[in-house]
Amino acid sequence: MAKYIFITGGVVSSLGKGITSASIGKLLESKGFKITIQKCDPYLNVDPGTMNPFQHGEVYVIDDGTETDLDLGHYERFTSAAMGKENNITTGKVYHSVITKERRGDYLGATVQVVPHITNEIISHIKKVSHGKDIDIVICEIGGTVGDIESLPFLEAIRQFKQHVGKGNAINIHVTLVPYIKAAEEVKTKPTQHSVGKLREIGIQPEILVCRTERPLSKKVKQKISLFCNVDEDAVMDAPDVKDIYEVPLLFQKQGLGKTILRLLEMRYKEGDLTAWRDKVVKRALHPSRKVSIAVVGKYMELNDAYKSIYEALKHAGVANDARMDIKKIDSEEIEEKGADRLLKGVDGILVPGGFGTRGIEGKIKAIKFAREKNVPFLGICLGMQCAVIEFARGVCGLKKANSTEFDKSTPYPVISLLEEQKRVKAMGATMRLGAYPCKLEKPSKAYEAYGKEKISERHRHRYEFDIHYKRSMEKEGLLVSGTSPDLRLVEIIEVKNHPWFVACQFHPEFKSKPDDCHPLFKNFVRKALKT
Ligand code: GLN
Repeated sequence: MAKYIFITGGVVSSLGKGITSASIGKLLESKGFKITIQKCDPYLNVDPGTMNPFQHGEVYVIDDGTETDLDLGHYERFTSAAMGKENNITTGKVYHSVITKERRGDYLGATVQVVPHITNEIISHIKKVSHGKDIDIVICEIGGTVGDIESLPFLEAIRQFKQHVGKGNAINIHVTLVPYIKAAEEVKTKPTQHSVGKLREIGIQPEILVCRTERPLSKKVKQKISLFCNVDEDAVMDAPDVKDIYEVPLLFQKQGLGKTILRLLEMRYKEGDLTAWRDKVVKRALHPSRKVSIAVVGKYMELNDAYKSIYEALKHAGVANDARMDIKKIDSEEIEEKGADRLLKGVDGILVPGGFGTRGIEGKIKAIKFAREKNVPFLGICLGMQCAVIEFARGVCGLKKANSTEFDKSTPYPVISLLEEQKRVKAMGATMRLGAYPCKLEKPSKAYEAYGKEKISERHRHRYEFDIHYKRSMEKEGLLVSGTSPDLRLVEIIEVKNHPWFVACQFHPEFKSKPDDCHPLFKNFVRKALKT
């Protein structure tokens, strides 16, 4: 049977529970254990796919087409654990399945209640993630902060779970805040004591505390936390702010977190090796010898989480090219007001990411026109590719009112439109073209040059497609369709021929980039940006 680590958070949100979970995964994987990581989200949406990025941040898509929480992106970037639909559960998913069972009559005669029906359902979802997969350790992160009404059923479920599997088979790691109070020149342990107290009230005694701090904690402070929170002294870890998130596994390794976890889970100690991670990722990220500036032109610029995987993939490209990544976040609506010249002049490369809805579209198209005409390396992703097709149709093929039917239903040139099967779809949840699809590359092309192979698989999340009827006329004007679905029906990658590097794809390459294995399109885009 797998062993379990439950990760909860206290005091405030945004403490980096996702990165903590991913880093613990990395640490244990480096010791040779097979791990998986699961996220429990306490909201009522079945998945985050119907939420606005301002509400939720990026929607991360995995191979099987599930729209998931962005923490699964961290899990995939830090570890080799393969994510599937069971790796992200939500209150919505849990209730949906309980209510479906109730309607079917599975509980006939019973009053269906939060305890035990919802909690049992949660427990069975937690067990499912390792089922038949030969997993040694499951890391299960509970979203939200202890004390939230919403996360109570999850906490009750893990309390029961821990009691059921017994000591040594499941532990709880609580991620908490130890603030530094400037006026008193002291760190304060009280919020952590209260937060652990809150957990104990619902029957959970954490075994390990990960204390987020501005600066490392002294031995004395750790002793105090250990005493008041009833955890072993070697189980009080500090997690001071770091320059780069990829340092966190090293930080935990230094404090012996792996050893403490294995002791508490009654597993045999194994030495781990993170030297490759340290040398190939962290050192290179912290000490690059060059600098490159990339403009990301989107519409959720004030929220870092909205384009999380894009920013991470750019960082990976910086690491791969030995360059410090200077990301310029540019609001496409601002380009509409002030013009592309003013905002984009001097950048080394331009990236237009995915998105939905009309707002800011014309600004993205202007940014793309600037990249095409001024020979600035360009990477377009999903909506970014659709905008590049619109811009090419308007600016090169002379189809002045070309558009996507998403933005203009009556455009005379619907270069981007819905396939017949999508026109029939009315429901909004999980009805897009989602998940991994194969793609065939044309050679020679910039795409083939990047991947070095003809058959690739990439993840999608969109409704609209390049209208294949325009392929031939656009190719005559210098567009190259360098990637298609194997049956040639769908256009997956386009390039502009007479340009140093102009590549746009219908899929999301950012979801498959890793710090030690940068995605080829990001790598070559940034390489070209450094040269031009
Ligand atoms: N809105 C576009 C579509 O639905 C693009 C989606 C995206 O960029 N993820 O096809």
